[in-house]
Amino acid sequence: MMPASKSQSPMHFCEQQIIELLNGNQDEWLFANAQAVTQQVFDNQVFIRGIVEFSNHCRHNCHYCGLRSSNRQVERYRLSVDEILDAVDDIAQFGIGTVVLQSGDDWQYRAETIAELIRTIKERHNLAITLSLGDRKHQELKLWREAGADRYLLKMETFNEQLFNQCRPNANFDERLARLSYIQSLGYQTGSGVITDLPGMTDKILATDILRLSGLELDMLACGPFVAHAQTPFAQSPNGEVLKSHRVSAILRLMNPGANIPATSSLEVIELGARELGLMRGCNVVMPSFTPSQVYASYNIYPGKNSATSDIQQRVAAIFQQIQHHGLQPNGSRGDSRRY
Ligand code: SAM
Ligand code: SF4
Repeated sequence: MMPASKSQSPMHFCEQQIIELLNGNQDEWLFANAQAVTQQVFDNQVFIRGIVEFSNHCRHNCHYCGLRSSNRQVERYRLSVDEILDAVDDIAQFGIGTVVLQSGDDWQYRAETIAELIRTIKERHNLAITLSLGDRKHQELKLWREAGADRYLLKMETFNEQLFNQCRPNANFDERLARLSYIQSLGYQTGSGVITDLPGMTDKILATDILRLSGLELDMLACGPFVAHAQTPFAQSPNGEVLKSHRVSAILRLMNPGANIPATSSLEVIELGARELGLMRGCNVVMPSFTPSQVYASYNIYPGKNSATSDIQQRVAAIFQQIQHHGLQPNGSRGDSRRY
């Protein structure tokens, strides 16, 4: 279809070309080029982030997510500020340069508490801080940016308003989109993304999602396959396809050469080895969980998430090995996006 390219300039595809790439008939071309661009832009380095999932309480009720408020079978937890800081200390000790603070949309943590947490982390460590705290108020997002947070991840999940409404009852599509743009205006390195194979998603919707995501000039692009959770309305829907998610990360890489694209744990849950394969298909980031062991398994967004029984040392060592196995280098620097 297209000549091989090792260029670092973004490639442009129209909707129809993306649909054809999603069909899988050009996987060889797509994956080879995505790998070449990723390795060239990031010099064979894979950025490691430590993620602390500090609360699994959520006021939203997303049909795909095990943490949804209607799910009474989750053992809910909230980490104290000191517990979060202990996990952050561990991340710094491992020589990892970014902490990702993630939670359900839990408004129990007041804006000032989070701001103080950010300031304390910055005083103690030379770490980049990524927040993934959901639909918080504009003034809170501003406060946290001023406190020193570097990045914010807010996935649209899909840019198709009808599908969004089918999956996220009572969430407001326009507000989420406006929040994303406000986050960017505050100077955060900003991330968004999609869940591939969400029930109701088509290749046409996915192609539009890829175009919309690429049009936003984001620093972080996250795509991972849908994983069915038994205690959700989507329990009976099939899991997403690993290959589809890999195609999306590869297309996103070609259209956004400098963006950070994580290989998600949902890939690994569906198929062992799929996360490391993602690193050969456009992804350049891996995020091991540093959530303390007493609550680790309760951050059960989807089955298999945080199910490893090994300790954090072993998990990080295994990730390093997988990365090196492919001739890549684990990298513990801040790992800012190349477009920043
Ligand atoms: N509450 C915040 C939010 O929704 O933005 C952050 C935490 S939320 C658990 C993080 C991400 O998990 C979501 O953006 C969504 O893409 C992903 N997720 C949730 N349920 C999933 C599922 N069943 N399969 C794949 N990804 C899922
Ligand atoms: Fe809550 Fe995020 Fe899960 Fe939706 S995806 S239920 S907002 S934790």
